[in-house]
Amino acid sequence: MRSLPLPLDPVSVLCVLTKCSHLGCVKTGSQLHALVVKLGVSGCVRVCNALMDVYVKCGLVGGVRRVFEDMGLKTVVSWTVVLEGVVKGEGLENGRKREMIFGCGFVLNDVSLCSILSACSRSGDVSLGRWVHGYAVKEIGRDVGVMVGTGLVDMYAKCGRIGAALVVFRNMPRRNVVAWNAMIGGLAMHGKGKDVVGMFDSMIGEGVRPDALTFLALLSAFSHSGMVDLGWKYFNELESIHGINPEMEHYACMVDLLGRAGRLEEAEAFIKSMPFAPNEVVLGSLFGSCYTHGKVKLGERIMRELVQMDPHNTEYHVLLSNMYALSGKEEKANFLRKVLKKRGIKKVPGTSSMYVGGQLHQFIAGDKSHPQTAGIYMMLDDMIRRLRLGGYVPNTSSQVLFGCSTRDDCTEALEEVEQVLFTHSEKLALAFGLTSTPSGSPIHIFKNLRICQDCHSAMKIASYVYNRKIVVRDRYRFHSFKQGSCSCSDYW
Ligand SMILES: [Zn+2]
Ligand SMILES: [Zn+2]
Repeated sequence: MRSLPLPLDPVSVLCVLTKCSHLGCVKTGSQLHALVVKLGVSGCVRVCNALMDVYVKCGLVGGVRRVFEDMGLKTVVSWTVVLEGVVKGEGLENGRKREMIFGCGFVLNDVSLCSILSACSRSGDVSLGRWVHGYAVKEIGRDVGVMVGTGLVDMYAKCGRIGAALVVFRNMPRRNVVAWNAMIGGLAMHGKGKDVVGMFDSMIGEGVRPDALTFLALLSAFSHSGMVDLGWKYFNELESIHGINPEMEHYACMVDLLGRAGRLEEAEAFIKSMPFAPNEVVLGSLFGSCYTHGKVKLGERIMRELVQMDPHNTEYHVLLSNMYALSGKEEKANFLRKVLKKRGIKKVPGTSSMYVGGQLHQFIAGDKSHPQTAGIYMMLDDMIRRLRLGGYVPNTSSQVLFGCSTRDDCTEALEEVEQVLFTHSEKLALAFGLTSTPSGSPIHIFKNLRICQDCHSAMKIASYVYNRKIVVRDRYRFHSFKQGSCSCSDYW
């Protein structure tokens, strides 16, 4: 188009920018940024907003700010986009974020508030979320409306404050199905299977009709609490009572529920009875359960199907090789690892993050990049010693020992394995949390992957030894550790 004698106007630039934002394509986006300046259309508010949106979607806060500072006229939309970018941005302190929200000179509307709240939910930044709550009450009034109310429920639940989410929800004068779904989904993430049933009954009592998403939240709550019978009950009522056709996601939830409970044969039979061919999610979840329950044969069979569906997904290969190793089939495990190595495949690194004083702190396993590393490792040593006194036994069985022939070799290898366990990202975050927050205050940690067995038991003992509430949000759910036990009752 550019080589043709056609004038490029803001509308055509806008079209391409919108697509870039959907695709997260920062390369084309930044080239368009240059073009925008060259064509002299940088005065167009809509073009600038779209440009900032591309940078936000790609997580490049610097780019957002550059466009924003060069803009003459700024609208509510510009502010919403820039604030969303700012909230997502990791380098900015909360005080500064608040200044920006205040400094915009507009009263933010529902849409803007919700987009900021959802950014808070994603990053787990509850202090900014709480501040937005205050702002909304001040600007809108005690009744913040269904939309913002739902955003608040979701934000509090996803930041691990389920109690606060319930308070906001109960005080909402009007509640639609979206609000109910947010509340039920929040309870599900916290493994509150029993409360969900009561919540669902109240929803029906208030005359709100549940939708497909409501049932997904219900089923996932039962799955996280091991309530197989209730799962079956509600799954069977989906169509017969509520007139909702079960979709692939509902089947996936049921497979997950049965698989977690160790009822793998039932899960397999259930998959065969599905009216459509199972997708990767369904099979992947069954495969995950095979791993947890050590069912190698069934695991291998599912693996073959999964590889055909998605040859590039390496997560399954990694799981299968671990499964071989655990069941003593080290030859097969080594073979698979070699294949993975050859193809240059690496696991997604586990990252734990937490907010302290409005600042995000991130850790990966064995991390030594934090400015307070020395203090963190000193605390870690002391913590491990205290945890051991409290009954913590490092779970080295999940880490397989290779190539040790003599006893001395083994002891040495074991010590190494322990050292690796101790520097898992969750434990580093915990040690940092213990040094940097007042004693007795709760510690909130966010993990991008599933929390491992060993860290789970270490957290339990730490909550008792240090008399702290520790809340960990992992990829699948919340774990709330208190006085030596976890809200998941070790079922996850
Ligand atoms: Zn761990
Ligand atoms: Zn737990």
